[in-house]
Amino acid sequence: MGIRYSKINAKNKREIVLLKGKPCIYGKCTFCNYIEDNSEDENEINRVNFEVLENITGECGVLEVINSGSVFELPKETLEKIKNIARSKEIKVIWFEVYYTYKNRLNEILDFFDGIEVKFKVGVESFDENFRNNVLNKNLYYENLEEFKTYFENICLMVGIFGQTEEMIKKDIEIALRNFKRITINIFVDNGTSIKRDENLVKWFRKEFKYIYDFENVEVLDDNKDFGVYEQ
Ligand code: SF4
Repeated sequence: MGIRYSKINAKNKREIVLLKGKPCIYGKCTFCNYIEDNSEDENEINRVNFEVLENITGECGVLEVINSGSVFELPKETLEKIKNIARSKEIKVIWFEVYYTYKNRLNEILDFFDGIEVKFKVGVESFDENFRNNVLNKNLYYENLEEFKTYFENICLMVGIFGQTEEMIKKDIEIALRNFKRITINIFVDNGTSIKRDENLVKWFRKEFKYIYDFENVEVLDDNKDFGVYEQ
């Protein structure tokens, strides 16, 4: 039994909920075990989500909703419930996570939550195209970064994987800092997939980028439970 509601008191103060969703539209990233929390049963999904959403107090004015996939995989009833709670608790900003492929449909969510500022987080994992697409199988191709950054305010990077290099990580962080308002860095934790953690690289990263932990716009997740919500 995991924990699906938490409050982040450090940077970017917010409440966070881990909701249940339908399976990710893509579902083939080699490092991803999210599928374990997905379900095809909308009644079950809504039942779990309604209970979790009852915890929201609105005290930070900001809510982050994650669902082991994209906001588009949440049932309509769950989205309605989020909207009603956000309005009644005077939440001003909601963050959702979304897979890059949905970039042309973000307006649907913006329109649905009319009156609330909606922001999107996307997992790019790495700007090294070969590593991202051939090792992580992310299937994320973009033609130009200028366009990419118009869709997403927060990008997630992954560090500490066999096959990644120090140079790649340095470059990823440099590009991310230069182009995006917020960055989430996930240090990879072995999760039963074929992708493996490189302990030496993790050690190097923690030392080399020690200073980045203090950046207001950067969140480093040393463990994927660091936001206080997890299901396992
Ligand atoms: S897009 Fe996200 S949820 Fe879907 S398989 Fe990749 S990492 Fe997992």
